[in-house]
Amino acid sequence: MSDGDRTVPEPERAGTEGARIVRTGTEGTRIAGARERWIPAGGVELCVAELGDTARPTVVLVHGYPDSKEVWSAVAVRLARRFHVVLYDVRGHGGSTAPSPLRGGFTLERLTDDFLAVVDAVSPDRPVHLVGHDWGSVQSWEFVTVARTAGRVASFTSISGPSLDHLGLWMKQRAARPTPRRAGQLLGQGARSWYVYLLHAPALPELAWRGPLGKRWPRIVGRAEKLPPGPYPTASLPRDAAHGAWLYRDNVRPRLRDPRTDAYAHAPVQLIIPTGDAFLSERLYDDLERWAPGLIRRSLPAKHWVPRTRPDQLARWIDDFVTAQESGDRPAGATAPTGPYAERFAGRLVLVTGAASGIGRATALAFAEAGARIVVVDVDGEGARETAESALRTGAAEAWAEQVDVGDGDAMAQLADKVTAEYGVVDVLVNNAGVGLFGPFLKTEAEDWKKVLNVNLWGVIHGCLLFGRRMAERGEGGHIVNTASAAAFQPSRVLPAYATSKAAVLMLTECLRAELAGQGIGVSAICPGVVNTGITSTARFLGVPAREQERLRRKTARLYGLRGYPPEKVAAAVLRAVARNQAVVPVTSEARSARFLSRLAPGLLRAIARIKPPL
Ligand code: NAD
Repeated sequence: MSDGDRTVPEPERAGTEGARIVRTGTEGTRIAGARERWIPAGGVELCVAELGDTARPTVVLVHGYPDSKEVWSAVAVRLARRFHVVLYDVRGHGGSTAPSPLRGGFTLERLTDDFLAVVDAVSPDRPVHLVGHDWGSVQSWEFVTVARTAGRVASFTSISGPSLDHLGLWMKQRAARPTPRRAGQLLGQGARSWYVYLLHAPALPELAWRGPLGKRWPRIVGRAEKLPPGPYPTASLPRDAAHGAWLYRDNVRPRLRDPRTDAYAHAPVQLIIPTGDAFLSERLYDDLERWAPGLIRRSLPAKHWVPRTRPDQLARWIDDFVTAQESGDRPAGATAPTGPYAERFAGRLVLVTGAASGIGRATALAFAEAGARIVVVDVDGEGARETAESALRTGAAEAWAEQVDVGDGDAMAQLADKVTAEYGVVDVLVNNAGVGLFGPFLKTEAEDWKKVLNVNLWGVIHGCLLFGRRMAERGEGGHIVNTASAAAFQPSRVLPAYATSKAAVLMLTECLRAELAGQGIGVSAICPGVVNTGITSTARFLGVPAREQERLRRKTARLYGLRGYPPEKVAAAVLRAVARNQAVVPVTSEARSARFLSRLAPGLLRAIARIKPPL
């Protein structure tokens, strides 16, 4: 694995199951560079691993079911560059011993005892930053909401694991006042929880996990979640999973039947929602601000096992959140996402080309307002930086500026490598950069065509190839928006090169849409009409003397200004197109009319094309 995991056999800690204290850590997988020790806690010994400088703020990572602390290895090594990172195997898992008897040994009260024993040992004088995934998050909700841990938790990042108290109340409310929508939510979550019912069956889960399921699980989870190769799950999985069934049996029914009504967080909470989680509905968290005021929400287009599949993103969000708590600031992007698409785009990685100005800039800011992470790309580096700064102020979770010419294939390839390595796979790509060229065909030179096609068509091809391939390889869907134009379906005697480039973009979009439909990747063409942007100030006019160029630019700019259609409206159409997966979106009334005529009365459009425009 790239993060330097290695497998270390630990024969000296061989299992002695059946004795009062059961050592479960046998074929453990140790995290490279981790210092391990065993800490006694309420009749068990907990295997605790530490990385990083102990003088730094402490981040405690709590694993879920059926996992051991190694599920965090890729996140832990990243965080250890800046923090004192602590991981421990929950009782009965990995290298920790199991309680005897098992029944009643896994209650949330016992798990809280364990947490306090660990923090007493690793950070006696300073509260710790808690991070939980799956059952690690379920139990961490207990840690951060009970009185006896007050002052011991500095912050909590919750991933894919709700509080059982909040869940119990959520269910009771929906059962008490069942509108069709609420009943649907209840049934939906009930269906996602099928495995919880199975885990309550006596003996069966243990038999399955220690038998065929335990053997097959690495392959099942690896395929379903598209896990990167590496020493996960660890060899202790069958025993971890068999013991862990008691987490459910000891807690789920009693808490859901009788949830605490005072489960308020006594530390700031960051909630990370993997939007493709097969086990948890996003609706579970609708009322969470009630329990955790000032909640920071992040969405990640990923499945359940994000500590394995999205370690870079998780480490970055945890780092931001912890750093902000330590310095007393709100983390970057902590402005609550707003607008109709906040739910859809918060936390998503969106790359917009030609975003220093006009439609691209407005689009980047609209995604920023919805809480997305934005990569602003433009040949104008200064303008790109300015848009990225505005994006952060507008609400982007993160924003970066990249100065790149979209027509330069090598530069675009480098950009794609960099973005993927540093920020992740792009969720929404907007190929928007474009240039205008006015003038009749017979006045154009080959060079003019090359210039226009290089930006307007090749820029889109490079973007689709480089980022679309990565989207498809990731297998989690995504969306590509290509900015075409009303000129794509409206012939004109003064825009042959521009209109040809945009017609090609429209056809490429349609072809790609068909190709990628089966992979959950939507592709849309946005076709604006006359929009009031800076395109008129950079457009070139052929067949007129040089001194005439500036006059024509000013005149066109005036006409575009008179039309007065703002780029923000096009941006809103872009977000809507992604949210609704629309194929071709004419924006502005003239674009819609042109589209309509191109289908129903193309002869009329041809006649209009002959008219010499008033330039
Ligand atoms: P704009 O000039 O305001 O913005 C275009 C941006 O693209 C600029 O920031 C520019 O620096 C950038 N750019 C140009 N060449 C580039 C390159 N090689 N690499 C990277 N960036 C480059 O214009 P706009 O109106 O916002 O145009 C955006 C898109 O909308 C274009 O594709 C344009 O063809 C299309 N469009 C515009 C209108 C309109 O009326 N404004 C109508 C239909 C379609």
